[in-house]
Amino acid sequence: MATVLEKKKVTRPQVRQTQCFIGGKWIPAASGKTFETIHPATEEVIAEVAEGDKEDIDAAVEAAREQFDGGEWSKMDARDRGILMNKLADLIEQEADELAALETLDNGKPIRDARAADIPLVIDTLRYYAGWADKIQGHTIPVRGEYFTYTRREPVGVVGQIIPWNFPALMVAWKWGPALATGCTIVMKPAEQTPLTCLRMARLAQKAGIPDGVINVVPGYGPTAGAALVKHRGVDKIAFTGEGGTAKIIQREALETMKRCTFELGGKSPNIIFADADMEAAVEGAHFGLYFNQGQCCCAGSRLFVEERVHDEFVDRLKEKNRQRKIGDPFDPETEQGPQVDKAQFDKILKYIDIGKQEGAKLVTGGKRHGEEGYFIEPTLFTGVKDEMKIATDEIFGPVMSVLKFKNINEIADRANRTNYGLAAAVWTRDIAKAHKMAAKLRAGTVWVNCYDVFDAGAPFGGFKESGLGRELGEAGLANYTELKTVTVSLS
Ligand code: ADP
Repeated sequence: MATVLEKKKVTRPQVRQTQCFIGGKWIPAASGKTFETIHPATEEVIAEVAEGDKEDIDAAVEAAREQFDGGEWSKMDARDRGILMNKLADLIEQEADELAALETLDNGKPIRDARAADIPLVIDTLRYYAGWADKIQGHTIPVRGEYFTYTRREPVGVVGQIIPWNFPALMVAWKWGPALATGCTIVMKPAEQTPLTCLRMARLAQKAGIPDGVINVVPGYGPTAGAALVKHRGVDKIAFTGEGGTAKIIQREALETMKRCTFELGGKSPNIIFADADMEAAVEGAHFGLYFNQGQCCCAGSRLFVEERVHDEFVDRLKEKNRQRKIGDPFDPETEQGPQVDKAQFDKILKYIDIGKQEGAKLVTGGKRHGEEGYFIEPTLFTGVKDEMKIATDEIFGPVMSVLKFKNINEIADRANRTNYGLAAAVWTRDIAKAHKMAAKLRAGTVWVNCYDVFDAGAPFGGFKESGLGRELGEAGLANYTELKTVTVSLS
């Protein structure tokens, strides 16, 4: 897998698909409107993209509905669906370099991350779910009386999928994988900041032979195109990744038609360093766990709890790592940190840095813009952070780390759990009993022990509390794409 993504000189990708993809055709928005997508490192306009709205969503849902209700997709043998999904993964692998570059152009993430993480994980996720296509089974149930009762797992139908901008291509794979494996059809609305890789993947899906109408993509804004998808009576389920506030709006709207909903939302994940941890590995994990992807990860380890005994030494080492972090042109294969995705995020993060200073936290590194062009922010480190400060409670979604001290295991689980979020957590220790005790106590959908941000297509991911509803990835990720049907046959 990694072989296709070796370090090479990067050529700027061509932007090819910028229209809506509906029923297998590339068409402009019905209104004729377009919106700009920019390269966040230079703020230059990359492309004008069709701005879909209700009319385009209606057409896309109609195409998806037609394909689901009577098209080839619903009649196809499950194993053949898996074969087509594998073909899509193969085509993505063939274009991996170009897709990685397109992701860097649209999102601003370093090319080395797009090549080493995003695109390989896209391929892996699609292959993983391709393997599930013919393994989705029901049960036989021993009921009372002369009856034969069994269950079938049937596709939920037309699914509306709304995704964010932080891992644009990967979010496509997380959403398409289980939907295609179960035999659903799709209307996807990518984030307005980053529509390009999703559109490119739709072209590859068609080339792979996935029938027209199975995958439809309508780029556009949330309150227009996104809201139209959520309200549409022809849509059976919404899968959403984004902010909690948006999820609550969607949940209310979706209630009207009793749509199934799954949500993957934000976090303020505790990363807990015990004094008996392997310090070098823990410093590396703390740094990576927060600054990876410019801090734009829903599971970022943004509350770094360090045991008092090792606190000062740990902070010194973090400071040094931040100083060495290479920030700049995301197309340079050496770059570790690129720009934030857009001006709104950039402004929001700088505001939080000001809040941190006003709240009395100590600014140890960073704290301001890097350079004069693009949305770059220096890797920022605050110490002396208290549990109730806004920088310790709010999701900042940027390269801003808050370090908090703790005394011992008795106090730390409660403090770590004192948040409305519950997406992820990590524990660093050499004491295996302590690690498992903490893993059981932490109220989070994922707990990493002596590692951070380790993802696998087979390992379920999702949030406790306000971090989400339902799980993605793994077998658990299939559950919300199927309806359970019970069939009872009289044997008398
Ligand atoms: P983020 O901060 O990651 O942009 P959002 O929740 O605003 O989080 O956006 C995630 C996705 O949700 C994007 O594709 C966005 O266009 C979409 N979105 C935003 N508002 C709505 C809405 N009211 N209804 C449906 N989708 C929305």
